[in-house]
Amino acid sequence: MPPRILIAGAGISGLALAQGLLNHPTKEFEVIVFERDAGPQARWQGHHIQVYNYGAKALLHLLPPHLIARLSEVLPPHIENECHSAQIIDESGKRVVIFGAKQAKDVHDLAQIDEKKTAWMMGYRPGLRNLLLDGVDVRWSKQVIGYEESENSVRICFADGTDEVGDVLIGADGVNSIVRSQKFPNSYKQHLGVTIVPTDVLVPASLAKRYHAFAKHASATVFLGPDGHELLVTTRLHSITEDSATFYRMTLQYGFPSAETNYAVSSPADVVKDINKFLMKWKRCELTDTLLELWKLARTQDVKVGGMTYVPPVKRALFEVAGVPEEGKASRVTLLGDSICGMSPFRGQAANIAFQDAVSLRRALDNYEKEGFVRCIGNYENEIRPHDLKAQIASRYVCHLYHIGLERTLKGEFLRSFSTREMTLFGLRKWPVPILKPLSPFIIAATIVYVGVWKLESAAQSHPPYDTDPRNPKAYMNSKLKKHHAEH
Ligand SMILES: Cc1cc2nc3c(=O)[nH]c(=O)nc-3n(C[C@H](O)[C@H](O)[C@H](O)COP(=O)(O)OP(=O)(O)OC[C@H]3O[C@@H](n4cnc5c(N)ncnc54)[C@H](O)[C@@H]3O)c2cc1C
Repeated sequence: MPPRILIAGAGISGLALAQGLLNHPTKEFEVIVFERDAGPQARWQGHHIQVYNYGAKALLHLLPPHLIARLSEVLPPHIENECHSAQIIDESGKRVVIFGAKQAKDVHDLAQIDEKKTAWMMGYRPGLRNLLLDGVDVRWSKQVIGYEESENSVRICFADGTDEVGDVLIGADGVNSIVRSQKFPNSYKQHLGVTIVPTDVLVPASLAKRYHAFAKHASATVFLGPDGHELLVTTRLHSITEDSATFYRMTLQYGFPSAETNYAVSSPADVVKDINKFLMKWKRCELTDTLLELWKLARTQDVKVGGMTYVPPVKRALFEVAGVPEEGKASRVTLLGDSICGMSPFRGQAANIAFQDAVSLRRALDNYEKEGFVRCIGNYENEIRPHDLKAQIASRYVCHLYHIGLERTLKGEFLRSFSTREMTLFGLRKWPVPILKPLSPFIIAATIVYVGVWKLESAAQSHPPYDTDPRNPKAYMNSKLKKHHAEH
């Protein structure tokens, strides 16, 4: 009997792992994915996703040949004038910085680019999720509520009163993971102090042209507004044709600093109005007018266009999820994706990291016959811990730079805000770490030791007969002093 791998959550991480295990080159696994949604189209999947060279490489490892052949549907090849780079533009429309990336022709070319170099392409997220669903046994309407682990198996329990038994359980159930809360009860979710409002819009060609006068065909552009507000726009130059007019899809993501963590579901029309109000406070110019026009395209109710549902925007507080704790005890249960490495979306890398982690987990499970599942999972967690943490720190830095640091820096307020302690060094999060209080005993002890050694050393150097010993650094001064005392 092949090992039975249970995966909680049919998001892109859980499904990528399922594909990897089902298409293992030498081993056979039975893989079942349990998803609380009622079906594949039950939830909005967002439109664009940034796929890096290392994420593309991981996908090529995980997918079977027939799905690799379809990858260009979700990561369309580069077309003329397109620039797969991210840039920052200030309120007046001036480009502040462009984060140059190596340009790739297509997904295969992307996967070939050295991982030390930055390279990515913008892909279609709903298409990627659909592709990952292909051939996977997903049980819909199965809400996981917990699990029971024994020496030889793990039992997963569902809200409908049923359960399933398997050899390993992987919690790929997102940022509010039930599996994580049971496996690591002390793990935490940390609010990043930023709220985002993402939505997808269908943009007519004339407006897309006005937009690209500023964006210069870049796939990702951050427009900086006042008070740490920004609008991130991601797009491709591939058009879709509707009613004989040309349209482009864009993902708009408005972000602003806020301490609010729990947004009640407000009316979509109100959310759209709120963001309009924010945009009205931006500097009045052609750029702001263009961004306002784009935002006006946000839907206030679900609309299906070209097989895609455009849902109204909602406010979402951003959280980061603590990574694999050092003291965590390995077991038959582990985590993948946002459930263990949730981070700010501002570097567009969380899903890419999850694909890489899925490759690591598949590789770790290679040895299950020799080492047993618990050891394999321990190896996987040790491998991903430092790597995930590094990615989280980088994405936190970028998130705070956009919303706290950069806008003030541009206005020349950086030093003032830093010196008045409104902001922390280079826009990093302010941690309320006490320094003087816990260090005070060490400071006092160090002072006593220093003064004591100094006194002892001076006494020893002035003591005859060593006071004039040529090896004594003070010998010359001491003999002069002695002579002086003898003469007077
Ligand atoms: C606006 C935005 C833009 C982003 N852009 C990028 C990008 O460009 N590139 C990138 O790499 N990453 C990006 N990310 C991050 C990326 O979307 C996530 O890292 C990725 O979706 C994580 O996938 P996941 O499968 O771990 O979690 P999810 O996508 O959250 O999937 C979890 C699944 O588990 C299910 N589930 C939850 N609880 C239960 C339960 N109790 N029982 C059963 N099922 C359950 C959910 O219904 C869901 O289907 C972005 C994120 C956001 C918010």
